Amino acid sequence: MSLSLGFPTIRRDSAAIPSTIGRPDAPGLIDRHGRTARDLRISVTEKCSLRCTYCMPEAGLPAIARRDLLDPTEIARLVGIAVRDLGVRDIRFTGGEPLMRSDLSEIISLSSAVAGGASLSMTTNGIGLNKRVDELVAAGLTRLNISLDTVDRDHFARLTRRDRLPSVFAGIEAAKKAGVAPLKINAVLMRDTLGGAADLLEWSLANGAKLRFIEQMPLDADEAWARDNMVDAAELLDVLSTRFTLTQPHRDDPSDPAEEWLVDGHSYDGRPATVGIIASVTRSFCAACDRTRVTAEGTVRSCLFGDDETDLRALLREGTPDATIAEWWRAAMWGKQKGHGMERADFQRPLRSMGAIGG
Ligand code: SAM
Ligand code: SF4
Repeated sequence: MSLSLGFPTIRRDSAAIPSTIGRPDAPGLIDRHGRTARDLRISVTEKCSLRCTYCMPEAGLPAIARRDLLDPTEIARLVGIAVRDLGVRDIRFTGGEPLMRSDLSEIISLSSAVAGGASLSMTTNGIGLNKRVDELVAAGLTRLNISLDTVDRDHFARLTRRDRLPSVFAGIEAAKKAGVAPLKINAVLMRDTLGGAADLLEWSLANGAKLRFIEQMPLDADEAWARDNMVDAAELLDVLSTRFTLTQPHRDDPSDPAEEWLVDGHSYDGRPATVGIIASVTRSFCAACDRTRVTAEGTVRSCLFGDDETDLRALLREGTPDATIAEWWRAAMWGKQKGHGMERADFQRPLRSMGAIGG
């Protein structure tokens, strides 16, 4: 059986659930390396209003036919299975840009109805958020991460190939007014953005947002990433330390990929201000990874860097019962690879780029 993903073609040779020899009879999404996935990322589209150079090709990703995308009812059914049968506690909608979907409120409200106590959040570039944040919060959205790499308009336009920084600021303002808290800002660390990193932190502190820098991963569609030119966490800390005094507090949650640093002399809401660094490349958190991913076309992806996907959309559309879909999902996660493997000489980039997976 072959499944067209728009980008690679991934084959599934058998209609039988993959073997899970050695897997204990546990309901959760455990894998053979001792991890349990409780954090679900659902990509809802490949479309985007920006073309960030570390993510998308200039022309955008090849379009996924509408009939190949999961619809709101299908997404909510997977959310229900994930929470009820598989122990998922956090659900995050991502893409592409989730705001490109006109039915996003319906996706969130149908998901919210079956999410139990699980949180429903979204990662977005913020463009158009000002017009929709109230509707999304009313539908059940509880948290937001907004991606912003620079507060310099020219630099933003070069990096994203679109002059849309004022729209992002409008989205952030609207999210604050809607009471979304904590508001988190994600910034990808690049040689090109390093010079503006301290300005971005200053802006985040002044605007009550929690900033987290992410080391750039080899997931850009243009395949320009190079290990020997990437900016690592240590280099960023050196740059930030020229303007801020940073100290590292005790780390409570090992599955949280962000290492937090206190920014001395700053606070928000009466708590000490922090800046986070997600050193996905140089200080891999694969050993504590608790993620499971569903692509916009409804395949389960157990690892960002693993191209072995399981087609849940076909199961949904064949009328498969929830319990059997849960079994497929468990089998997919049991086979999760140990780590991203970037340190190995034979490391191969995955076939999908970040925008086609959902970060
Ligand atoms: N469009 C939304 C956004 O930008 O927030 C959601 C999708 S985007 C793929 C999700 C996250 O992945 C963003 O925070 C983005 O900065 C991050 N990202 C994209 N490409 C990346 C890369 N090559 N390395 C690390 N993070 C990346
Ligand atoms: Fe679009 Fe987000 Fe990728 Fe930027 S990072 S191109 S906003 S999907």
